[in-house]
Amino acid sequence: MNSFKVAVVGSGPAGMYAIQHLLEQTRFDVEIDLLERLPTPWGLVRAGVAPDHPEKKLIADRLFQFFLKRSNVRFFGNVEIGSDISHDELTACYDAVIYAVGASDDKPMAIPGEQLPGSWSARQFVAWYNGHPDARHLQFDFSSPRAVIVGTGNVALDVARMLTLPVGQLARTDIAEHALQALQASRVKEVILLGRRGCQQAAFHNPELEELLYLDGVDIQIEADDLSAPERTGADWDTRRKLATLIRLQARRVATPVKRIVFKFHHSPVSVSGDTQVTGVQVRKSDGSGSLGTIQCGLLLRAIGYRGRALAGLPFDVQTGVVSNIAGRVMDSSGPRTGVYVTGWIKRGPRGVIGSNKQCAAETVGCLLEDARAGKLSRPNADALLQGLARRRQVVSFRGWQHIDRAERQAGSAQRRPRIKQTDIGELLASAGSPKP
Ligand code: NAP
Repeated sequence: MNSFKVAVVGSGPAGMYAIQHLLEQTRFDVEIDLLERLPTPWGLVRAGVAPDHPEKKLIADRLFQFFLKRSNVRFFGNVEIGSDISHDELTACYDAVIYAVGASDDKPMAIPGEQLPGSWSARQFVAWYNGHPDARHLQFDFSSPRAVIVGTGNVALDVARMLTLPVGQLARTDIAEHALQALQASRVKEVILLGRRGCQQAAFHNPELEELLYLDGVDIQIEADDLSAPERTGADWDTRRKLATLIRLQARRVATPVKRIVFKFHHSPVSVSGDTQVTGVQVRKSDGSGSLGTIQCGLLLRAIGYRGRALAGLPFDVQTGVVSNIAGRVMDSSGPRTGVYVTGWIKRGPRGVIGSNKQCAAETVGCLLEDARAGKLSRPNADALLQGLARRRQVVSFRGWQHIDRAERQAGSAQRRPRIKQTDIGELLASAGSPKP
């Protein structure tokens, strides 16, 4: 077999890097259909990267969009696998299917009160401020002066910045319009980040931590038993850099602080208080010493990690929250599921930055090519399936996405913003225009 047809499900970095590897190989002629649940591509590059990190979004313009301009790649937006097309239909129509659907659930804290109104996952908050259509109606309460974030990873830092950045700065980004307006009226003055371990074990990265040095009007306070001079610790290089930054943050003086971020390390949440709404979080030293204390707050954001969601028709490992796989080959109890692969967070769990997906996709595509060379992939036909689908619902082509993109950029340019995102599915489909792929 010298040619094959692949469906890639999900157009975030994981899916786009898989497409790059498929395009770069020269052994086979390959046709690729990219299926995406939303009318818009790029996954977390559009709906996850913080609005004040525009440089991290450039990858879509500088790399990913060129893959979708290739004659052997087609984009089908507004198509959900599981409801519009089943897994079985998909595998019956393609030689190979690569799922790159990310991690769309949250890790639970598993403490009482976690589900009270006012307690949100950071995933929901991030989706809301980034204009994800699923999150546009969420109503966050910023009326209380204090917010608590559980976790000290990069997501926790993103969320802390969004709550404390001067609104004038946010207004120059592509933050969703509804979020900009709500944050303009926010009364949150203090954000507490709870780290269950010490600052030497914090999950954030140093470049993201260093950004806090440049937050205008925001005082930073570090509460940690293990904050010591980096050269006095036996810690690795990354940790020593983070310690040095934490010391700089602690020493930094802000002339007229308007807001405050407090890192409270060695503390774990025990329960969330409130009858009908979050009013506080009970915390305790993680080593069990000391007594319980309550931090009053009106908003609680759980930034403790994402979790993959099971996909109908695919084996799922409930312990790790990923589709069961070895090196990207989906594995049933009896062995590999021929022609079905995973890449990105649904393969390896919610770890790593955008670029980590390149290597991950190389491994998955490597397995696919090996199976193709061994003659293990079949020869089906996808066109009937997609034509049938296009008769049932509006499918967004790459050209349709370009219409949306142009409309958003034009709306933004009037306000000197990179774009004003459209967040309503109906509005997005109207902007996309032509239903034909
Ligand atoms: P993460 O890096 O895994 O951090 C999760 C944090 O939650 C850790 O501090 C962890 O503490 C804590 N935690 C976990 N379970 C907890 C519990 N039950 N109670 C209290 N604390 C708990 O996850 P993330 O921040 O969601 O980020 C996900 C991935 O996206 C990471 O690889 C991250 O680097 C990446 N990302 C990158 C950027 C960027 O490049 N700017 C931005 C956002 C996200 P322990 O360490 O003690 O488990």
